[in-house]
Amino acid sequence: FLLGFTINKDNLCSNHPFANPTVPPITVHSSSMAKMIFDGHLSLHNNEHAAKDFGNRYNLMPSAVLHPKSVSDISYIIRHVFDLGLNSELTLAARGHGHSLEGQSQAYQGVVINMESFKLPRMRFHFQTGTKQPYIEVSAGELWINILHESLKHGLAPKSWTDYLHLTVGGTLSNAGISGQAFRHGPQIDNVYQLQVVTGRGEVMTCSEKQNEDLFHGVLGGLGQFGIITKARIALEPAPRMVKWVRALYSDFSTFTDDQEHLISSENSFDYIEGFVIINRTGLLNNWRSSFNPKDPILANRFISEGRVLYCLEVAKYFSPQEYDHIDQDVDKLLSKLNYLRSTLFLSEVSYIDFLDRVHVSEMKLREKGLWEVPHPWLNLLVPRSSIHEFAQQVFGNIVKDTSNGPVLIYPVNKSRWKNRTSLVTPEEDVFYLVAFLSSAIPSSTGKDGLEHILTRNDRILEFCGRPHLGIKQYLPHYSTIAEWKAHFGNQWEVFYRRKLIYDPLAILAPGQRIFQRAH
Ligand code: FAD
Repeated sequence: FLLGFTINKDNLCSNHPFANPTVPPITVHSSSMAKMIFDGHLSLHNNEHAAKDFGNRYNLMPSAVLHPKSVSDISYIIRHVFDLGLNSELTLAARGHGHSLEGQSQAYQGVVINMESFKLPRMRFHFQTGTKQPYIEVSAGELWINILHESLKHGLAPKSWTDYLHLTVGGTLSNAGISGQAFRHGPQIDNVYQLQVVTGRGEVMTCSEKQNEDLFHGVLGGLGQFGIITKARIALEPAPRMVKWVRALYSDFSTFTDDQEHLISSENSFDYIEGFVIINRTGLLNNWRSSFNPKDPILANRFISEGRVLYCLEVAKYFSPQEYDHIDQDVDKLLSKLNYLRSTLFLSEVSYIDFLDRVHVSEMKLREKGLWEVPHPWLNLLVPRSSIHEFAQQVFGNIVKDTSNGPVLIYPVNKSRWKNRTSLVTPEEDVFYLVAFLSSAIPSSTGKDGLEHILTRNDRILEFCGRPHLGIKQYLPHYSTIAEWKAHFGNQWEVFYRRKLIYDPLAILAPGQRIFQRAH
């Protein structure tokens, strides 16, 4: 079968959707599907929402959207498309919450499966029995925020998160799900006990570390290439109630990273460790006043941020009411070993739920100002520890002139505690940094807050990152040629390709990732 084709702009005809992301559909492949009977329904009209995502740059119209109500609906449509075989070009994309950045959950003239329509009658809990750890079984279209609310009713919560919870289980498990807890628990893909998957042949399979493990490892971080996840069992732990949330600044990059690396390697540490870079910002500490209080207000007032490159450590310590008496001492003890600028220590105390759902607060504010549904030319990188100083010198010192377009996150994780058999591609070293340029572009601006300017900046960063000795990988990767994908996967390519041949041999699934071209 015709897998692994180069999707290179030079090879595309001008009306191909990847040549021009906004071209309207030319043909509708819906006649055979219109006769199919589903528990849910197939929508042939008004499907514009399925041609949009958070990135707001790709607009690929599908022919139809399936709103499944059962696993059989999903299996039925995949089988139907599989049986069309080489006579069809029809593709299928699962759409979680559509928070991809570059059309990854879209299917040009294909069928989008709206995973949020498929809900189990209720989320099913398994409480701890003997050595068996607690877990929750959910449909893959469930939002993490709903899982948090439901599991907190039982005093439990998942262990590993993303910074934003209005994303689906299937969407984050297809990537990794990395946040400030990953240094301890691994990403979300390491905290799954079992999946139900419908493969690209339409077979419904249960998989775990012990059953169909090749599929299990393939699907986790598998960019939707091997099957559609329909259900997942997610590891839980006892949930804390409250969080001490701390921010402190550094002016020296080495001191900042030394402290971050110290924190991720100690047994007794914070429960969440992240950080961000601040370039050329004024009135910085004023922006924190709403939720954070300075430890020393007089010293903090004297601090001036203008024009400098600063690094902000962001950490959190979880606690329960019984620990209230000594939590401040515990936090002080951890902080006493760090070398931040003493005048810039800011603290806050919030509920666990408010802490985890923190980005939603920013979302609401941005929505009010009409600044949420703008283009998001994000760039996420995984930078090995050995390259992080060269990276910082070049990127923060030269390429990125300010961080007013959106946050730039930077924090290390330790892969020695991660499971290494999933499809996720990471640098080869144990310790590597997630560096995320989370930019928003102002529509129609031609200035430095405009899309073109930010994309040019991203290209410069990527060009620098392409130097082989740096060993940098993209997270939420986006490429347009097979050569780039092969380079991304490195020695994992053969396994990835073999799995594609086994589980989705016609390359029907997740065409928006642009790795394989539909065989026809
Ligand atoms: P979609 O965009 O709908 O889908 C993503 C991909 O997965 C597509 O290829 C789709 O076809 C496939 N897919 C979706 N559902 C399934 C399924 N059930 N089975 C198989 N394939 C499926 N990521 C992090 O790791 N850490 C973060 O802290 C983080 N923060 C974020 C904050 C915001 C505001 C946003 C917008 C994104 C963030 N992300 C983060 C990235 C996010 O994890 C991914 O973009 C994720 O894919 C979004 O989930 P979704 O449900 O919207 O997926």
